[in-house]
Amino acid sequence: MEEIVRSIVTILMRGTEYQTFCKCAQCEMDIIALSLNTLPAHYVTTEQGRNSVFERMNSRENLEWINKRIIQSIHVIGKYPHRN
Ligand SMILES: [Zn+2]
Repeated sequence: MEEIVRSIVTILMRGTEYQTFCKCAQCEMDIIALSLNTLPAHYVTTEQGRNSVFERMNSRENLEWINKRIIQSIHVIGKYPHRN
């Protein structure tokens, strides 16, 4: 889950839609952390386990749901930037 969230946050923050939001490393980390706190962790111990979880999570429906959570986090952090 962390890998997926990191890559989606990076893509979103590079896009034009979130140009007005702070993109410093601190805020990006805060967005990732806040998103992960609202999403199931899906920890795995093997490469095989990672692949099967990734396949299940990589559905369009699931990615849309993860996206929504991340966008919420971007707005929350955007209101209170550079905080821990
Ligand atoms: Zn910032």
